[in-house]
Amino acid sequence: MTDVKSNLHRVLDSLPPHVRLVAVSKYHPQESIMAAYEEGQRVFGESHEQELSKKAAALPRDIEWHFIGHLQTNKVRFIAPYISMIEAVDSLRLLKEINKQAARCGRVIKVLLELHIAEEETKYGLTLDACRELLAAGEWREMEHVQICGLMMMASYVDDTEQIRREMTLAADFFDEVKSAYFPSDPAFCERSWGMSHDYPIACECRSTMVRVGTTIFGERVY
Ligand SMILES: *Cc1c(COP(=O)(O)O)cnc(C)c1O
Repeated sequence: MTDVKSNLHRVLDSLPPHVRLVAVSKYHPQESIMAAYEEGQRVFGESHEQELSKKAAALPRDIEWHFIGHLQTNKVRFIAPYISMIEAVDSLRLLKEINKQAARCGRVIKVLLELHIAEEETKYGLTLDACRELLAAGEWREMEHVQICGLMMMASYVDDTEQIRREMTLAADFFDEVKSAYFPSDPAFCERSWGMSHDYPIACECRSTMVRVGTTIFGERVY
């Protein structure tokens, strides 16, 4: 049995005070989530709409759910009523759909723009130029039901810590560029979501504000 409670505390104790933990519970049972919940953890990350909706209906209402995976536009309406943050927005189309569905629910949904910086080709996300274009086009300014709170990225899954550090530093520098160009007087644009089980200590050194840690807390996922 994985000792979720002590794993959780080990991770929390290792985080600087300004870094928040998203406990990534995808593929893990509700009992594991409750074990972390009982220790005070309230922010959980999931990446499949149906799995998330089932858990959200069954588990305490004060859990803040973050959608961290690739979200298909036709799934937005199912999570719009309750999702706390959608972390991986990688197209204008998805952003528009989130705005539309949030409006229907009378909500404002917090989102992060996902960057593609890693070398792996399979990863989703906006290239830096695509992200610049999306912001420069300005359509997002009219979207009253989404709040862009920052950037999210996954570093390459490699052992080379210098490469991970380079990619995260690039993301942090890009955050500064976007912040000063588009959100200089918007305190809500403040989040840098990077760092997973294998690289969150590096992320903390590379100005992350939000780490997404699954395996280190809940054990290996059984797919
Ligand atoms: C699954 C997942 C994580 C957590 O990964 P671990 O290696 O289990 O910590 C973090 N971010 C995203 C986007 C994920 O899909």
